[in-house]
Amino acid sequence: MPPMNTLAPAEATAAAADRLKLTEIFLSLQGEARAIGWPTVFVRLTGCPLRCQYCDTAYAFHGGQWWDIDAICAEVARHGARHVCVTGGEPLAQKRVIGLLRRLCDAGYEVSLETSGALDIAEVDTRVSRIVDLKTPGSAEQHRNLWSNIAQLTPHDQVKFVICSREDYEWARSVVAEHQLADRCDVLFSPSFTQIAPRDLADWIVADRLPVRFQLQLHKVLWNDEPGR
Ligand code: SF4
Repeated sequence: MPPMNTLAPAEATAAAADRLKLTEIFLSLQGEARAIGWPTVFVRLTGCPLRCQYCDTAYAFHGGQWWDIDAICAEVARHGARHVCVTGGEPLAQKRVIGLLRRLCDAGYEVSLETSGALDIAEVDTRVSRIVDLKTPGSAEQHRNLWSNIAQLTPHDQVKFVICSREDYEWARSVVAEHQLADRCDVLFSPSFTQIAPRDLADWIVADRLPVRFQLQLHKVLWNDEPGR
C-alpha cells in the first residue's frame, strides 16, 4: 500500500494525476471470458455509476485507497502472473485507468478490461482485450448501454450478456442478430448466478445453435464468490 501523501501542494497535484482509487489487488484464476483458468492478477478499481440488480461486487462501490500507478504496477509484478485483469466497479469511471492499461501492456502482460458497456471504450489501448457488457432488461440498467461501443469492437474484444430470465435470453438473441455481434468478436452468455438454471441457458443456446459461448463463472464454482478470490 502506498504511503500517505506528504508532498507540497503543487507536487501533490502532479502526483494525483497518476493515482487511482482501488478496492483490491489480488491473484486468482480468471473465472470467465477467453482467458478463463489462467492465473491472473486482478486490479479492482473503486466506484461504479450503475446499480445492476445482480451485482456481486457492491463492496467496490465505495471506500478504496488511492494508489500511485507506479505502486500498482509494482504490486502487479510482485504476483508474477502473465495475465492482468482490470475490473471494478466500473474501471472506466476513473479516466486515469487509460494510462494504467497502457503501462501494463508496455510491460508485456496479457491485459483484459471488464467494463459495464455504459462508458466509451474508444481510448482504451487496442492491445487490451475489452470485455464489454451489454446490459439486459433483467439487469435493471439496460438504459445505460452505450450502443456506439459496438462499432469499436474488434476480434480481440468480447461482449458479455448476463442472462436473468428467458425474456433476457430472447432480448440478447435479437441483439446478437441485429448487430451481427458474432462476426465482430466473441459473444459470451452467462447465467445470472441465482436467477436461472445454468442448464436451461445451455439448452436454449444449443437448441438455437446460437453463435455464442456459454460460460459459468469459475470463481463462483470454486470459491462461492468470496471477495479477493
Ligand atoms: S456494472 Fe458491474 S460493478 Fe457496476 S453495478 Fe453493474 S455488475 Fe456491479
